[in-house]
Formats: sequence, C-alpha cells, structure tokens
Amino acid sequence: MSYIVLARKWRPQNFDEVVGQQFITTTLKNSLSSGKVAHAILFSGPRGVGKTSTARILAKSINCDKGPTPTPCSVCTNCIEISEGKSIDVIEIDAASHTGVGDVREIIENIKYLPVSGKTKVYIIDEVHMLSNSAFNALLKTLEEPPGHALFILATTEVSKIPLTILSRCQKYDFKKVSSNDIKNSLKQITSRENIEIDDSTIHMIASESDGSLRDALSLLDKLNTTFDGKIKYEEATKLFGIFDSSYCLSLFKSILAQDPKKCLQIIIELNQKGINPKKTIEQLLRIVRYSVFIRVCGSSVTTDLAEDEASQINEEVSKFDIGALENIFNQTLKASEDISRSAYPEIALEMNIVKLANLGHAIPINDILNKLESISLNTMSKTSEISGAKKSGISAKPTIKNEADDNIISKETPEKKNLKQENIENLSLSNFIEYIKDNESMTGIYLEKADKIEIKDTEIKLIYNSQSVFSDSIQKKDNIDKIKDLLKKRHSKEFNINVLVNKPEKKGPEKENNNYDSNQSKNIINNKALKEALDTFGGRLIKVKNNIKGDK
Ligand SMILES: [Zn+2]
Repeated sequence: MSYIVLARKWRPQNFDEVVGQQFITTTLKNSLSSGKVAHAILFSGPRGVGKTSTARILAKSINCDKGPTPTPCSVCTNCIEISEGKSIDVIEIDAASHTGVGDVREIIENIKYLPVSGKTKVYIIDEVHMLSNSAFNALLKTLEEPPGHALFILATTEVSKIPLTILSRCQKYDFKKVSSNDIKNSLKQITSRENIEIDDSTIHMIASESDGSLRDALSLLDKLNTTFDGKIKYEEATKLFGIFDSSYCLSLFKSILAQDPKKCLQIIIELNQKGINPKKTIEQLLRIVRYSVFIRVCGSSVTTDLAEDEASQINEEVSKFDIGALENIFNQTLKASEDISRSAYPEIALEMNIVKLANLGHAIPINDILNKLESISLNTMSKTSEISGAKKSGISAKPTIKNEADDNIISKETPEKKNLKQENIENLSLSNFIEYIKDNESMTGIYLEKADKIEIKDTEIKLIYNSQSVFSDSIQKKDNIDKIKDLLKKRHSKEFNINVLVNKPEKKGPEKENNNYDSNQSKNIINNKALKEALDTFGGRLIKVKNNIKGDK
C-alpha cells in the first residue's frame, strides 16, 4: 500500500474538523443553513491554515446529496468524489501555473454548461493573486454575474496583490495562523491515532517550528515519522533536521541578560556546528525577547506560543529588569536580525551581534540619562570659585599611606564634588579606582560613579548610595561586586571586601531655596547648549526637568 502523507490522510472532512478557524467555519455553516451562500468567495491567509480544505468542504456542503447543508455526509458519491478531487463539478485551478488570460477564458467558456452530477459548479482558484492583469479582467465580468449554478472560491496567501475590482465582488474571509495550542492538540490526536511515539517537547518543537501552519507541522511530523519509524525522540529530531532546540535560545537570552559574552559565543558556535542557520537563531532569539517584554508587561499568564516552563523561566529572569532594558535588548536584536539577513557572512554577523548584545549592559533608564545630563548642565553652569576651599577639603583626597580613619573618602554630594573626585582620585591608594573598573567593566564603572560616597580603608570598601538611586540595586547584583573584586585582586594581588550601603533620604535645607533653584534653573537647563546637543545626538526629547538636589547636603 502506498504511503499517504499525514496532511492528506487527516485532511478535515467537515467544518468541525477545520482547526483554528472557528469564526469562519461558523459563519459558513450559518450561511449554508440559511441558504445565503455568496456566489464569489475569497479565502485569504497564510499557507497551510486550511483555506483549500475549507473550500472543498464548502463544495461538498453544497453538492452533497443532502445539500446544501452545514454538515455534508461524506458518504454520498458527490461527497466522496469531491474529497478525492475527482468530481467533474468541482474544478480546482492552480493559478500559479495557469496565470494567463487563455486559462481564464477556458473557465468562462465552460461555466455556461450545467453541473453534471451536483447542483453547483464550484471553481476553486488557488493562489489567485498569481493571475495576470488581463486574466483578472477577463474574470471580472463572470464574477459579477455568474450563472446561478456556479460558485467561485478564490484562495490567496497575498490578498494585497489582488485588484480591488475583484476584491469588491467577493465575500472575504481572512484565515489566521493556527495557534500553537491548536496545532499541538491536533498533533497529539493524530500521533495517538497513528500510534506514533512522541513526547510533548517534540510536539511543542514541531508546533513552534511550523509558525501557525498546520500543514507544515504535519509534513514535519511526516518526515520524523518516516525517518524514525514511528519512535520519535527529541534529541534525534532536533539533530537530524537542524530544527532549533529552543532551550539553546533561552540560555542565549539568559546569557545576554547576565552580560556574559563568552557563554553567548559558546552557544552560537555550538549552534553553528549543528548547522543551524544564523537567521533562524536570531529569529528565535527575537521571539524570546519579544515574549519576555510581553511577560514583563503583562505577567507570565500572557498568551504566547512558549512552552509553559519556558514562560515561567523567562518570567523569573525578566522580573529583575525594567521594561526599558528589555526594549533596548529587543531593538538591538531586531537590528541584529536585519544585519544578519543583509550580510554576506551571516555566521560572523551573528557572532559579533550577539557579543554586542551581551555587552549592551542593562540599559540605563532614560530618566537617569536625563539626570546625568542635568548634572552635566549644572556643572557647566555653576563651575565657579566654589570648586575650591571647603569642598575640596571635604573630599580629603589624601593617600592611604597616612592610614587615617576616613582618609579615603570619595564624596560627590554635589555635582561639583563629583568633578573634584575625578581630579583627585589619582592621589588615593586605589588610584583611578573608578576609572580602572570602568575601563574594564564599563557598566559596573558607571554604577560605581553613581555612588554618593565611596570610602576606602585598606581592603575595606564602602559604596554608599542615596536611597533614591536605582544604581544601588544595579551595583548590588552579585556579579558586579564580584567583577570589582576580581579586577582589584588582579591589580593589587589581595582580596577586597566591598559593602554597599544605602542612605536614608535626608530632607534638609530651606525648601524655598530649592524651589527657586528649580524654576530659575529649569529654564537654563532647557536652553542649555550641551543638553540640546545631547538630545540631538541621541534623538531624544526633554520631558521633565527634575530637581535633583533634594536630600543632598
Ligand atoms: Zn454527501
């Protein structure tokens, strides 16, 4: 007996068997019950979602001995002939290979003859967008006034290529991609009826690989079934067909979040060795990043086509990040995917882009960038004689050789002091401490810079942050502290102890003064040249000027 492919063997035979298009099948059933079927119908939608199957079921419903009926019997001669594609009254034309006006003329010539055994002559024109302009023109008149015994069902994957004159004469039905869950359920049913041994992870993999096309899912299952003789194992399946094992992608995503370019590269190299197309890799990563934003915004219960455990893993990972950071990763991934599809060397482009993503750092929220810009503006504006004297001594700037209790305090209680800190840091025992860290771990260096105060005494380092600073959280992530420790150990050959302290906000100083400052300086900030240039460069806009000196001494 010859092998019948699963997609054909399990082709739906009635409207209820059509998967994932309930809205359309219900509407069609209703119009059949009420006897109000249009004479020209257009099915549009992606490939493999059931357009042609639905067209055939509609043809059966009309020509069934019991028809027109929403539930064709599938046993009468007409039904059987239509199911087998042998009916003289149901004419299927593939417009992809019959594009010319001559082909359409033939249809028009024949349409006047009455149906042979059924009640209606059904013309199913697949891929109708492939018809030439003159062919469309020839069809137009017939579509407008077809004889009572004719029904046209046009199907297309590219509805935008169909002339409006044709569209306006058809009743349109938009098929959508079959949801991952629907595909999984169908696969489960079919594999159990076919006695195919397969586990849930493989079914999930097939479903996500088929991108909403049930036909693609079934042909993939077919391939696996014939290759492994009915016993499909996940590892073998992914290996043999170079199908993407989504667990790689999840680890890749985690490594990007962890800013671990080394791990990222290892994963990419492994995927390349498995022969996975770089485009596929970045596509899958983009999918994960996309859903991570979904999950971060709506929680893990949001509908995605991720497997349950994938969704919960992602939920766990992304809860620590703000949405801006994930958006940033998404934008870079999208850019990477464009890079890779354009590149003559997609593998290399993938590697470099992934390293870039891993080094992207956890994006700094835009508010913090604006705050930083503000402080730059403030510096430029108020750089006066204040920069000497008392404040300078407050910074102390004395080397540890003296071993005084607090001699290594770097303080930046005001923006001016921050400048001084940079100037005087050379004199400290951990000279260039921040610069050194920044040179090696740029993001960690930035978090360090954001400290209100840094105290260094021998190998004890205290990083003191304002309670409102988001950077106290960022620096406290374990790997940041470890990175600093490692770097210091490398340079000074000894272990350092690092403590992060968060100060409670102190409300001090006359509010009025601050308010004056606010209103007067806001204008200056808005008109500040440096700020304007920065906004131009980053393509940003100033939303709000915040008073940043509250709580400062
Ligand atoms: Zn029938």
